[in-house]
Amino acid sequence: MAGGAYVVIALSFGLAGGIVGKIKGSSFFIWFIIATVVPVVGLLTAIVYRSERDELRRLCPTCGRVCKLHDALCVRCGAELEFPDEALASENAAVTAR
Ligand SMILES: [Zn+2]
Repeated sequence: MAGGAYVVIALSFGLAGGIVGKIKGSSFFIWFIIATVVPVVGLLTAIVYRSERDELRRLCPTCGRVCKLHDALCVRCGAELEFPDEALASENAAVTAR
């Protein structure tokens, strides 16, 4: 019954991945599927996955638009963005602090 054991393990990973994804503000169902299809990798992906709203942000020095920290170019004015000395809090952190 190696196949049956595998299904149980895959579903366990699926549940864990779904719960982790849900906690991170994503879809339980999507992460359940991902973690079931690729058990170990899917669960790890769910754990390291960061929602866009958790990304640190910074201001574009040219036009002042708020960009994601990992953006290399400003999406509004196209200026090249140096890695900033100071990052803005992520959207989620900013909402919590308010
Ligand atoms: Zn800009």
